[in-house]
This record gives sequence, C-alpha cells and structure tokens, in this order.
Amino acid sequence: MSVFTQTFQHSVKQQVNAFLIVASIVFICALFGILARPLFFLSICWPANAALLGLFLRFKSLNNLGGWTGAFTAFMLADLLTGNTFLITLLLTIANLLNPLVSLSLITLFKLNYKEYNKGLTFLYLFILCSIGGCLASPAFAALTLPYIDNTFMTLERVWIDFGMWWSGEILNMIAFLPILLAIPDKQTFHDVIQNIKLKGLPFQIFLPLIAVIISVSLTHFFIGPGALMFPIAALVWASLTYNLFFIALINCVVCMLLNNTLSEFYIHQSSNAFLATSISIRMGLFMLALGPLTLAIISLNRQKLYQQILYLANHDSLTTVMNRRFFYEQSEDVVGSTTKIQTEKTITVLLLDLDHFKKINDQHGHYNGDIVLKTFTQRIKNILREDDLFGRLGGEEFAILLKNVNLNQSIIIAERIREIIQSTPTALDNGEQIYISVSIGLSFEKLPYALPFQQLINRADHALYQAKEKGRNQICLESNLRTIT
Ligand code: GH3
Ligand code: MG
Ligand code: MG
Repeated sequence: MSVFTQTFQHSVKQQVNAFLIVASIVFICALFGILARPLFFLSICWPANAALLGLFLRFKSLNNLGGWTGAFTAFMLADLLTGNTFLITLLLTIANLLNPLVSLSLITLFKLNYKEYNKGLTFLYLFILCSIGGCLASPAFAALTLPYIDNTFMTLERVWIDFGMWWSGEILNMIAFLPILLAIPDKQTFHDVIQNIKLKGLPFQIFLPLIAVIISVSLTHFFIGPGALMFPIAALVWASLTYNLFFIALINCVVCMLLNNTLSEFYIHQSSNAFLATSISIRMGLFMLALGPLTLAIISLNRQKLYQQILYLANHDSLTTVMNRRFFYEQSEDVVGSTTKIQTEKTITVLLLDLDHFKKINDQHGHYNGDIVLKTFTQRIKNILREDDLFGRLGGEEFAILLKNVNLNQSIIIAERIREIIQSTPTALDNGEQIYISVSIGLSFEKLPYALPFQQLINRADHALYQAKEKGRNQICLESNLRTIT
C-alpha cells in the first residue's frame, strides 16, 4: 500500500470519527435542549453551541470537515424530528453553527492561547470574545432572516427584543456549559482524584460549601425578587476556594439555570411585559455572577500550584532533586518521633553515604562533570529505594537515607545493593567518557520502642562511615560493632 493511500485512509477514518463523535454529542445536547423546554421552559437551556465550541477547542482532531458536517447533521435532525419545517430548521442550524464558527475564528485571529485557559486572564478574554463574537453572530443572522419567513417566533415588530433575548441566552449558555467542557479532567487526573479519595476519604467539611450553595439557591424560592440574583454569591466564593475548576463549572451551571428559571418565572407571573423587560437583564446578571466564581477558582488553583512549586523548591536540593538537609531532618525527626510515640516494634535504619575521592573527580574532570556524577549517583539510588524511604543530601557529596521497618539483615542487603550498583555502573561524563566511582556507607540501626533523638542515629552512622573510609572506602560499616561487610 502506498504512503499516499495510507495517509488518505487515515484521514478518512479521522473525518468519520469526528463526524460520529460530534454528531452524537450535538444531537444529544440539542435534543436535551428541546426536551428540557417544558422543564426549564423559560430558561432556554441550550448546551449544544457551547458544547460544540468546547469540543473543537479541547479536541483539535474533531475540528475538521467531518466534525462540522456532524454538527450540521445533528442540528438538522434534532429540529426536524421535533416538528420544525425544513427552511426554519436550516436557518436555525446555520445560526447555531455561526456561534462556534465566529468564536473560533476570533480566537485564531487574536491568537488566544485557550489551552492555557486556566492561567492569567485567558479565561476572561475567552468569554469576552465569545460573548461579543459568536454569541452575537447567531442572533444577528436569525434577526436578518427569520422575521421574513412565515410562522416563526421572530417578528419584525419586536426583532430587537428577540435579538436581545437570543444574545443574552447565548452568553448565559456559554458561561454555563463551556467551562464544563474545558475543565473536564483527563483520564490521569480523574484516576488520581479517585485514588486520593479512596486513600484519604472525603471529610464532612468538604461538603459544607456545596451545602451552602444549595441552601442559598433554595432561599430564592422563599424570598423571590431581584435580590435573589445575589443570594448564592458568598457560597459560590466559598466553593471556588474549595473545589477544583470542573466541579465549580458544574455548580455554576446548575445555579445559573435554576436562578434564571426562578427569576423568569417570578416576572412572567407578574406580566409578560415585566418578563420581557427583565429577562435580558437577569441573564446578563447571571453571566456576570458565573464569571466571578470561575475566575476565583482559577486564581485559587494557580495559587495552590505556585505554593506547591515553591514548597518543593524550598524542601529539595536543586541539583539532585532529593530532599535538602533541613527537610530530610524534619521528615526523619517526624518518623522517629511518631514511631516512638506509638511505641510499636518498628525499626529505623540510617545510611550515611559519602562518595569516595570526589574531590579528585572534580579536579580531573571539572566541577560540571562532578555535578553530573552527583545527579547520576542520586538517580541510581532513587531507583533502588521504595516510595516511602527518605533520601536527602546533607551537603556536598554526603547523603543520608532513612529506611522504615526494614530489619538489620535487609538493611545491610539494601546498603550493599547501593554500594555494588554504584561501583559497577560507569557514569557517562559530558564528553562521553565513562568513569567508575564508589561510595562508602555508614549504617546505624535502632529497634523501637526506644526514644532517641534522630541526631543520635546520624552521629552513630557518621562514626561508622568514618570507619568505612578508614578501612579503605567502597564498603559498608555498621555502627558500634563496626563489622565490615565487604
Ligand atoms: P573522601 O573519599 O574522603 O570522601 O574524599 P573526597 O574527596 O570525596 O572528600 P572531600 O570532602 O575532601 O571532598 C568533597 C568534595 O566535594 C569537595 C567539593 O569541592 C566537592 N563538592 C561539594 N559539593 C559539590 C557540588 O555541588 N558539586 C560538585 N561538583 N562538587 C562538590
Ligand atoms: Mg567524599
Ligand atoms: Mg564528604
């Protein structure tokens, strides 16, 4: 098969896939919008346009001819199946497609890096572009075509009101549904979250902001009026500082739809004029209301990430990425302290490692190559250690390892494995030259329950390390009885 045929087949397959995926999702969303009308009959809950834009933004492989044809087919099918005439369906479909089309064109034109939507002000810019771009294009097209056709809901007499209603509906749907699509966690994040919940469980406090949101929205049924728009704001702020962006997007969506419904119902019961006069205002208000928690959630998310990065940098050695001296001591004291408190038969092993003749390596091959040796050395040891072993750089070419619940024999075997791997595996230097290094190890061991300061274990291991150096290096010495293993 020629390369051309293969590429062609691959491209057709991609187009068909895009067609099927986009068509199914848009069809379900459009049908949901149509069928939800009796339920949210005033809320024009129409997720299809936002879903389509979200799909194209999130999955580039869907944004092709197949994807657009899929969307067109789905919009046509959904409306025709629910009783619209062909011409009206066609015009409505074009109006719907114009929203993502214009929004995507503007995003490309202004080079908006939407993939970084959760950084800085990208999210705000994205919604400004959508609301004055695609969301305006749809009703503009509808206003220019639909009033000239018989039996449509748009008439020339009140075309401006219909235009405003449609536009405000579009922006509300956009802010309600697009963030969900953009923030849907990928497989790995989803898996990590589930693992974390399984491991740590869900404390009751985590539900409090959600409960506050539910209560504040419920209150709008009892104290209905223009102020209802503001009821959930405090609870939403609380939620934004607690939950991830995806969950906030879901909460926001439900809050927007419910509030729009409650307030619209309230005004339509007064008079249809009151409803028309206030609807656009309510929807714009809800758009602004939803933008707040989303922006706050993003800021809070970025702050948390930054804090984690800074914390990591503060606790780890920048060259080797193992724990730095302070953090290693802190963590080790925690282990020794907590284990003695519980007074269980646990064991603590401290290995103190010092590279042999490291000064010579620096002198012969330069400081830069010395750094390479240190990095390779730590990486090799990391590969041997378990996840919960502690490994830190105490300074220069001196490192320490703390093993928990490993008996003396096993501890010696681990130390020996480290020594053996270090002496037998050559390290490639900057110029490709391979050199052999070795390490001396001092080992101290404590069986609990015996309360002791961690520094004592380090001192004992240090003494053993001194013996190992004395006896010729590249070996392990145990504390006290100073038994040479190799
Ligand atoms: P011994 O076998 O007795 O341990 O000899 P040694 O040469 O390894 O010991 P010494 O303490 O005399 O030398 C340690 C050297 O490690 C001196 C110092 O220049 C070097 N060193 C300390 N930190 C770094 C670093 O971050 N990078 C590099 N390349 N060298 C470092
Ligand atoms: Mg040394
Ligand atoms: Mg040293």
